[in-house]
Amino acid sequence: MIRITFPDNSIREYEQGVTGLDIARNLSNSLAREVVAVSVNNEIWDATRPIRSDASVVLHKFDTPEGRHAFWHSSAHLMAEALEALYPGIKFGIGPAIENGFYYDVDPGDGVVITETDLPRIEEKMYELSRKNSAYKREEIGKKEVLDLFGAKGDEYKIELIRELEDGTITLYRHGNFTDLCRGPHLPDTSHIKAIKLLSVAGAYWRGDEKRKQLTRIYGISFPKKQMLDDYLVMLEQAKARDHRKLGRELELFTFSQKVGQGLPLWLPKGAQLRERLESFLKKIQTKHGYLPVITPHIGQKELYVTSGHYEKYGKDSFKPIHTPEEGEEFLLKPMNCPHHCEIYKSKPRSYKDLPIRYAEFGTVYRYEMSGELHGLTRVRGFTQDDAHLFCRPDQIKEEFIKVIDIIYTVFKAFDFHDFVAQVSLRDPENREKYIGSDENWEKAEQAIIEATQEKEMQTTVVRGEAAFYGPKLDFMVKDALGRKWQLGTIQVDYNLPERFELEYTGSDDQKHRPVMIHRAPFGSMERFVAVLIEHTAGKFPLWLTPDQAIVLPISEKYHDYAEKVLKFLNNCDIRTLIDSRNEKIGKKIRDNELKRIPYLLVVGEKEEAEGTVAVRRQGEGDQGTMKLEEFGNFVTNEVKKQLEHLD
Ligand SMILES: [Zn+2]
Ligand SMILES: [Zn+2]
Repeated sequence: MIRITFPDNSIREYEQGVTGLDIARNLSNSLAREVVAVSVNNEIWDATRPIRSDASVVLHKFDTPEGRHAFWHSSAHLMAEALEALYPGIKFGIGPAIENGFYYDVDPGDGVVITETDLPRIEEKMYELSRKNSAYKREEIGKKEVLDLFGAKGDEYKIELIRELEDGTITLYRHGNFTDLCRGPHLPDTSHIKAIKLLSVAGAYWRGDEKRKQLTRIYGISFPKKQMLDDYLVMLEQAKARDHRKLGRELELFTFSQKVGQGLPLWLPKGAQLRERLESFLKKIQTKHGYLPVITPHIGQKELYVTSGHYEKYGKDSFKPIHTPEEGEEFLLKPMNCPHHCEIYKSKPRSYKDLPIRYAEFGTVYRYEMSGELHGLTRVRGFTQDDAHLFCRPDQIKEEFIKVIDIIYTVFKAFDFHDFVAQVSLRDPENREKYIGSDENWEKAEQAIIEATQEKEMQTTVVRGEAAFYGPKLDFMVKDALGRKWQLGTIQVDYNLPERFELEYTGSDDQKHRPVMIHRAPFGSMERFVAVLIEHTAGKFPLWLTPDQAIVLPISEKYHDYAEKVLKFLNNCDIRTLIDSRNEKIGKKIRDNELKRIPYLLVVGEKEEAEGTVAVRRQGEGDQGTMKLEEFGNFVTNEVKKQLEHLD
């Protein structure tokens, strides 16, 4: 007998060789129908794999990330089986589960093209195959036999992957007529996959290398219930309507130019003003928290980044160094602001009494991204971080951390992100050589983050192996109005840059000490934050932030003079107002400006002019009645004040 420990610490005894599925059956039949994978001593396994010794076990249904991963990975295999049936000779690259669904990169063969019009046929085949209830069977065999197997199929991509694996046994998964190289885990059988939708087709270079063959990437998603797929497709439609690239164009916030270059956003006046307001909003909070502004150039000597270690990290795969006419001078576009801020810290001697020092800069950085990876404002090649670096004594880390968490909370509150989780990313204890810095320092830093989150009573998940190369970090994931997750807000402890730049302060003991550095960016970057905000609000920004707060709509040309008077009055009240003086019917003016997400539409005609009033419409909510000009001015001013109240 073996002892199985459950998450609630209860223990049951089972025969040796019991599987997760057996355990589920033993608990309840309905559970057995839903179990898709199992954690055995924190390793994710097939629910059908025999457990041979005492273990702690967690059963996963589709509602856990582990469960979904196994589900979608198995669906990728099912799609591959369907593709093999429909396109004999097709070759396979990789087919992973992703955050929402799965994809497979395939090479359909010379002259064969798979397009979106083929997706329904592939989907149909997948349904047909899923109904065969084929079991996913795990096999462990020697590397040579695996090479022979895939060699016989002539699958050059799989062969390349197998050759790179260490000698020894390799796991394969078979179901129906399909065999794949795979670590697993997978579903017990294909019948779990009840709802399938293939979503799109894209090109993807083999191994992300532009010099190698472009494969066809087919994206799909699947669910254990039809209703779940229907709900997901409704959400996708809503997401399409909120796509920040579409709304960014319609609301005239930003644009891109092929001539300027891919991934380099151009902020239009309305977008630039919105961005400036975001900056002042954060500057105000930061000033209150004792931050000091600094400004640094967009390039720096290569040596600067060699010292910081960023050259090693970004140098090879990024923009090439800039050479000047003078011999030996080499500059890099700055990939990070931190090295510059370290040099500012170094510009004069520091005492323990000066610390903490908090330098803040909206600093623009440049990082090369492959053209296929670029996406609107969320993946770009040049972006502005709401960056700050805090230099403090080791005994101040926790307190500084807590203060940054407070700033992030304020930001989330101001933009109505109530639903968020935090992730503490620690180093992978198995691969310590991946990280810069001493063991002792890493442990201290990790401890400080964990204590800070405990003191703020935050719900966190702790993930080992997710830390950056220079320090552990705390990341916030927010859920937007459609329930999609975005990473916003990062706080990162760094013991390494102070070491590399030999930063010092004189302690109360008159000795030299190293300060600790904390990097933090509540927005992440202005580009990414605006993208998330557009998608979260569907372009209906909070009144204080929105580019235009009101627009005056004269019923006909006769009332233009009065409209001008209204405009002047409101602009004097600091209410950002426009006039729609087009020669259009009032109905059309209302419809067009509703689409522009302008919060207040002010209709003026004979009656309004006579009474000194405006007929107020709220965007999306319709008629709000008539108000005296002054009354409306106060009304808007108060609404803005109320939105920003909690900041004071
Ligand atoms: Zn697999
Ligand atoms: Zn930094």
